[in-house]
Amino acid sequence: MTSTTNKDQQRIAIIGGGPGGLTLALILQRHGIKPVVYERELSDTNRDRGGSLDIHHDSGQIALREAGLYEQFQAIARYEGEDFRLLDKTGKVYIDEVADMDDAGERPEIDRGTLCELLLNAIDPECLRYGYKLIEAIPLDNGMHELHFENGHVDTVHLVVGADGAFSRIRQLLTDAKAEYSGLSMVELNVDDAAVAHPELAAFNARGKLFGRGDHKAILAQLNGDGRIKVYLSFRTEQDWVDTCNIPFNQPEDAKRQLMAYFSDWDEQLKNYIRWANDTIMPRRIYMLPVDLKWDHKPGVTLIGDAAHLMSPFAGEGVNLAMLDASELALAIAENDDINKAISIYEEKMFAYSSRSAEQSDNNLKLIFSNDAAANLKKLFDGFHDQAVSH
Ligand SMILES: Cc1cc2nc3c(=O)[nH]c(=O)nc-3n(C[C@H](O)[C@H](O)[C@H](O)COP(=O)(O)OP(=O)(O)OC[C@H]3O[C@@H](n4cnc5c(N)ncnc54)[C@H](O)[C@@H]3O)c2cc1C
Repeated sequence: MTSTTNKDQQRIAIIGGGPGGLTLALILQRHGIKPVVYERELSDTNRDRGGSLDIHHDSGQIALREAGLYEQFQAIARYEGEDFRLLDKTGKVYIDEVADMDDAGERPEIDRGTLCELLLNAIDPECLRYGYKLIEAIPLDNGMHELHFENGHVDTVHLVVGADGAFSRIRQLLTDAKAEYSGLSMVELNVDDAAVAHPELAAFNARGKLFGRGDHKAILAQLNGDGRIKVYLSFRTEQDWVDTCNIPFNQPEDAKRQLMAYFSDWDEQLKNYIRWANDTIMPRRIYMLPVDLKWDHKPGVTLIGDAAHLMSPFAGEGVNLAMLDASELALAIAENDDINKAISIYEEKMFAYSSRSAEQSDNNLKLIFSNDAAANLKKLFDGFHDQAVSH
């Protein structure tokens, strides 16, 4: 059987070159195993897919150590990015935490693009294939999988890892579960060069994240390493709202005027995030997988990251778990000659920690957007402190 194939002859395909897939490729490479990463985009697009990420000491940072990148990460990570402000829609401040620069925190920030560049610079370019969109993975009788790509390429591998995100095509080999709409839609905005162009807003935002909420809505803002403030206007709303709200997202001035109307009775400083946003306005629906998703082990296939445990962004764990999964799976493969034993060891661990995070994310989502604002903000405050203490 394939599981007894010599390790250096095992063919491993990773579908998806996001933070999870790239971390897995690099850690395997450091253990003398050369996988192939198949990415559908024509080049790396991680820089365009989201902003600053806080990398946790007990997950993302563990993976960076295994990837041999921890020192490089430390040198560029933004520890001051741990500043955190929580307000209600009137501008009343509930939390105003300033990162202590003499006491390096546990969740420093790095932009997604910079993080993925660190990983890419260390991966043997021969392992990376851009412009390869997976169409189908067919299980074979010998436990291997035949992979079919849109460009006509076919590969047969001992292990296929779905690191292909929210709408994974590999997931269906393991479970019938599908990503469902979470009840939350977001509109992504950017305020460019905030410190220079809008110093008042930059001072209000501080050096990290700001979170304003009220009326089943929220404004989430985060200062990125390139000086822009990335803003997510968040709405607890119907799945089809993005299509039915009649906001012309490709006509910025009109779109911003209509978005302002949703926040008409909010504090002016919070509204400045909309007022001073640039012209790129991107609506997103937020999806999630069932909180306790598990599957029965199958030979030659597994999932990491969002493909395995997509959750709303309210535990701040998504990228951290994707990287921890990568690390756990890579180490299990490196330590076990039987690749299927390695998958089982990894999946058992991953199911335990990811279900805890998914539950926390789901609870936070309900808490943030429910009715009793004051009580919930207090609970959220306590929750943030509990999380900080437990990490
Ligand atoms: C608005 C928003 C804000 C977020 N904020 C945070 C945060 O602050 N902190 C945090 O930790 N997480 C955050 N997340 C979550 C985080 O972005 C994800 O959890 C993380 O990107 C998952 O990494 P991944 O590698 O599993 O998947 P992805 O980053 O989704 O990468 C999947 C890759 O697979 C490729 N792919 C997909 N299908 C195919 C195919 N058929 N063939 C080949 N390639 C394919 C894609 O092009 C992509 O490159 C946020 C998410 C959203 C939506």
